[in-house]
Amino acid sequence: MPNTLIDALLAKAVGDRRFARLPDRTDINYAQFAEGCRHHAAAFAELGLEPGDRVAAQAPKSITFLQAYIGTIMAGGVFVPLSTAYTDAETTALLANARPRILIRQSRRGQIGCTAQEVTLEEDESGSLPLLARRQRGAFAVQPRDPDAIAVILYTSGTTGAPKGAAMSHRALLSNALALRERWGFTDQDRLIHALPLHHTHGLFVATHVALLAGCSMVFFPHFDAEQIVSAMPQATAIMGVPTHYSRILASPRLERRQCTNLRVAICGSAPLPEAVRKAWFGRTGHPLIERYGMTETGIMTAMSPGEVSQDGHVGTALPGVELRLCNDSGVIEMRGSGLFSGYWCNPPATAAAYTPDGYFNTQDIARHTDDGAIRIEGRLRDLVISGGLNIHPREVEDVIDQMNGVAESAAFGVPHPDFGEALMAAVVRDHTHTVDEASIRRHLAVHLARFKHPKHLTFPPSLPRNAMGKIVKSALRDQFMHHFDSAQDNR
Ligand code: AMP
Repeated sequence: MPNTLIDALLAKAVGDRRFARLPDRTDINYAQFAEGCRHHAAAFAELGLEPGDRVAAQAPKSITFLQAYIGTIMAGGVFVPLSTAYTDAETTALLANARPRILIRQSRRGQIGCTAQEVTLEEDESGSLPLLARRQRGAFAVQPRDPDAIAVILYTSGTTGAPKGAAMSHRALLSNALALRERWGFTDQDRLIHALPLHHTHGLFVATHVALLAGCSMVFFPHFDAEQIVSAMPQATAIMGVPTHYSRILASPRLERRQCTNLRVAICGSAPLPEAVRKAWFGRTGHPLIERYGMTETGIMTAMSPGEVSQDGHVGTALPGVELRLCNDSGVIEMRGSGLFSGYWCNPPATAAAYTPDGYFNTQDIARHTDDGAIRIEGRLRDLVISGGLNIHPREVEDVIDQMNGVAESAAFGVPHPDFGEALMAAVVRDHTHTVDEASIRRHLAVHLARFKHPKHLTFPPSLPRNAMGKIVKSALRDQFMHHFDSAQDNR
């Protein structure tokens, strides 16, 4: 029996072709990368890893981290990347769910309740993973794994309630990566800017898997740094990022069209792309910023093709192997297909709740079909605000506010209201011109939206709260304004 994922991902990992260039201009070729993966696999086996055992990794992004990932799968294990942003309490809760045999951390910081064998990424201790891996020489027999075996558990953003670890099979990960490589036309001639974190589907699967399958090289950034990326642009044929990355790159005065002459495709996803960013990217670089849409649990469901003209909210057509339908009443996207996860790890109630009675995964995202057969994302179901019995889609209100000159971006959200049940509020970030105020926004809203959709309160923060993937954290805004209308006079 083969090892489904490894056979495909490492098929081109031979020879002295460049796999990654680091910011200090060190190059790692494919043969070196693959050898490091084998050494990690051998080290894990020596530490007692059996097929199906979990290896949890909470460490900064690095090539060693990637080798630990591939090495885990080679040894038949299940990789569990954890964000370094988690507190020790959050980490303890996730580890109690994953029950890893091996835990990789950067260093022995903080006490976490876990019985796993701990190895660190520091080189000066006996339990150092790089040292252990370097000691392992010679051939390593890759463990056979069934296509339906679990390869990775990814804990979804949103850490309320019992941990939800999306268990991804070899088959699901491979089918999604193959579909994306085809849609975006990646070949071994590509050079991809990789500045995404590795604990999330975007950096670990979308970017890394596509690069490995194509055998292309990566300009590999351990951290996102807009100026470093602008400097690397002339080398790149492809870049992947979240909307915040693109707005930060655009903030650099050094970004010019002539630096992007080698660029073939710029891909954005993981959060709604503000219209202003989409337009500014095209204006400054001459390249459309194409979108793809997906979730941890489903993999990428839709994607645009290189060169396709982008439009606000459009995320392209379904990938091969993905079946999408929009629920008649709400427009909620329901999905079935080969990239779908195998359930939440050790959490059958959450798994059961995620599906419709006829077996589709409920994404909770709301969309509509466009005339050209693509999908336009309209918002999230749980963001829906019901005020005085009337449904308000915050995205619709945000779109109207964002059209105004002087607005950088906005977020509309619902909070409890004694009379209306819920009331809509909007946080509006002004741009440097500072030309909008409450009165001008209200005049604009009066022209474009029914009265019941107007926010009952407007606030003007300097920026919006965002998580590591650039998603606006509406729950933080809701928490901040939870009691705003408790005794409010503001009853517009
Ligand atoms: P995650 O599981 O962290 O990848 O988050 C998935 C969610 O991100 C989806 O359910 C969407 O709400 C959002 N998302 C991903 N891609 C896009 C996109 N291109 N446009 C709008 N929202 C997106």
